[in-house]
Amino acid sequence: MVVGASLAGLRAAQTLRDEGHTGELTLVGAEPLLPYNRPPLSKSTLTGDDDVALPGNDELDARWLIGRTAVGLDVSGRAVTLDDGTRLPYDGLVITTGARPRRLDDDAMSLDGVHLLRTFDDAMNLRKALRDGPRRVAVIGGGIIGGEVSSTLRSLGIEVVLIDAAQAPMAGPLGETVGGWLAEHHARHGVELVSGVRVASLEGDGHVSAVRLSDGRSILADLVIAGLGVLPNTEWLDGSGLQLDDGVLTDSALFARGHANIVAAGDVARWPHGVFDDEYVRIEHWANANEQGAAAARNLLRGPQDAEPFTEVHSLGTRVHGTRVQWAGLPRTADEIVAISGSLEEEKFSIGFGRGGRLVGAVAVNWPKELIRLRRAIAARQPLSAAAAA
Ligand SMILES: Cc1cc2nc3c(=O)[nH]c(=O)nc-3n(C[C@H](O)[C@H](O)[C@H](O)COP(=O)(O)OP(=O)(O)OC[C@H]3O[C@@H](n4cnc5c(N)ncnc54)[C@H](O)[C@@H]3O)c2cc1C
Repeated sequence: MVVGASLAGLRAAQTLRDEGHTGELTLVGAEPLLPYNRPPLSKSTLTGDDDVALPGNDELDARWLIGRTAVGLDVSGRAVTLDDGTRLPYDGLVITTGARPRRLDDDAMSLDGVHLLRTFDDAMNLRKALRDGPRRVAVIGGGIIGGEVSSTLRSLGIEVVLIDAAQAPMAGPLGETVGGWLAEHHARHGVELVSGVRVASLEGDGHVSAVRLSDGRSILADLVIAGLGVLPNTEWLDGSGLQLDDGVLTDSALFARGHANIVAAGDVARWPHGVFDDEYVRIEHWANANEQGAAAARNLLRGPQDAEPFTEVHSLGTRVHGTRVQWAGLPRTADEIVAISGSLEEEKFSIGFGRGGRLVGAVAVNWPKELIRLRRAIAARQPLSAAAAA
């Protein structure tokens, strides 16, 4: 049984079949849709393209329980309980329930014109609101979603103010150099940046009209999009006995700790990463969900004795105002940052992130080949100096 029918769940189910599981296979998914691709939701979907297809749903030989939510797990009885009380027995369980966006407080969320962005429905609601011609949109949060939405809105000619608690967008995960460059990049493309300040509340009478900041300023906006990060969907596992701490804690081979017939993968899984000294990481990116779903399923079939640790070094990319920004590994854990090649002015550069002299993260802008090279160097545990010299 696979609980969570999205990217990681689909990849797990496909792999179970590909690797020889001929018995029953059930996917439970809370959304009313078969698995689809989320990355377009902040990009092409908002400009009118409906294609979010994730190939493989139709060919899968499985029972789909779509629009059904798991509410409980009985580990000793080997059964999942659904929201209508149905108990579904399993022999092996794959947990791929992903993550959901952090919300603003209830008062703010109750105003019209306030949006989150995670699901196809969210994107459709936002697209509809954008067609009504907002005068000024406030995007709260300068992370991937905030940055992508801001650039999509600018491409539609919409006035955008990007409000971010950090001193510069992405400065937390990617460091101040990249953050500073991103701030200028946004400004060059007409995004008004308000950095280093928190949102205190939203104002409006029924419909949002302004964002009140913690320093007392008020930012006028008739549409607000909150991109405040995500929380793993683990509440349905409370009391099950699984170890939960910012996700489902697993061993290095993605087995829920202490359980030989339960694995977890994707945005919900937190595992000790062998390349990073067994630091527990939870990765909220497409390629990780894609690869981890398959790896978790393979290990479930093999069993803990023959399972392989998941040591893939993740990488991801985003486009901000047409510029390709990619990164790999764990830049946020670095104690040393070096410019490797290229230049900020030319908008083509790479930066290496080291910890204890070893390369642990990399950023490459408009330079996919360089990112591939640096990702390999991270996986090979190269010294920062060697990766920079090469
Ligand atoms: C707008 C947007 C843009 C993105 N862009 C990029 C990008 O450019 N690059 C990149 O690398 N990543 C991007 N991502 C992130 C990427 O989409 C995610 O990392 C990926 O979707 C994670 O897949 P998953 O299967 O682990 O979890 P999810 O996609 O979150 O799926 C989990 C599924 O489980 C369901 N579920 C939850 N709880 C239950 C329950 N109790 N019972 C049953 N079902 C349940 C949920 O409804 C959901 O359908 C983006 C995400 C968003 C929202």
